Amino acid sequence: MNYKRILLKLSGESLMGDKQYGIDNERVRQYAEDIRDVVAKGIEIAIVIGGGNIFRGLSAEKSGMDRAQADYMGMLATVINSMALQDALEKVGVKTRLMTAIKMEQICEPFIRRRAMRHLEKGRVVIFGAGTGNPYFTTDSAAALRAIEIKADAVMKGTRVDGIYTADPEKDASAVRFDEITFREVFAKNLNVMDMTAFTLCEENKLPIIVFDMNKQGNFMKLASGEKIGTLVRG
Ligand code: UDP
Repeated sequence: MNYKRILLKLSGESLMGDKQYGIDNERVRQYAEDIRDVVAKGIEIAIVIGGGNIFRGLSAEKSGMDRAQADYMGMLATVINSMALQDALEKVGVKTRLMTAIKMEQICEPFIRRRAMRHLEKGRVVIFGAGTGNPYFTTDSAAALRAIEIKADAVMKGTRVDGIYTADPEKDASAVRFDEITFREVFAKNLNVMDMTAFTLCEENKLPIIVFDMNKQGNFMKLASGEKIGTLVRG
C-alpha cells in the first residue's frame, strides 16, 4: 500500500506514558518525532487525539454527572491533548494547524473541511480537536468521520498493543494476532477494534483501519512506508 494521506488516531491514554493521569511530555515528544519523519517523506497526516487521560464522559456519568455535559468536558480534554501535541510537533520543526469541532477562535481554527484539505496539501499536519463536536460520540468516530471527509487512505490507530488479537493479549497469553482481518470477521468474532459507530462508518465507506503499536519508535514510519506491521482491517 502506498499511502498519500493518513489519519492517525491516538488515544488520550497513550499520551500518559507510565503515568496514571495527564500528559507525559516524553511520550508526546516521541510521537512528534515519529510524525515528523513520516511528514518528511511527503505523506500528508491528519491526527485525531482522544481525551481519556483527562476526562471521559461515560465515566463521569457513572458518578452522577449529566452525560451530555460530561461529554462536552471530554471534548475539551481532547483539545488540551491536541495543543500538547501541536506544541511538540512545532518544537521538532513540523508545521501544524489545530482545527476544532467546537469554535475556540483564540487558540485554533474552526473545522472547515476544504480548508483542512488545503492545509494537508501544503504539507501541514492538521490536528482535529474536540472530537465530532457532539456528545454521545467518541474520538474513534471522529477519526473515522474526518478520515472519510478528507479522503484519507486509511485510519491508523496507534495503541500500546501491536494489533488485533483473538483475545486481550494483556490478559490471555494464548491470544494470537491477526495480520489481516475483514470487517465481517471482526463482527463475527466480536472483536474490539473501535466502538461500533466508528467501525461501521469505516466499513460502509471502505476505509481500511490499521491497528499498530505507536509506542515503539519508528513503527509509524514503517507502517506509513508500506511495511506490514500491526493488523489491517479491510472489506
Ligand atoms: N467525546 C464526545 N464526542 C466526540 C468525541 C469525544 O462527547 O465526538 C467525549 C466523550 O465524553 C469521551 C471523551 O470526549 O469520553 C474523550 O474521548 P475518547 O473517550 O474517545 O478518548 P480516548 O478513549 O481515545 O482517549
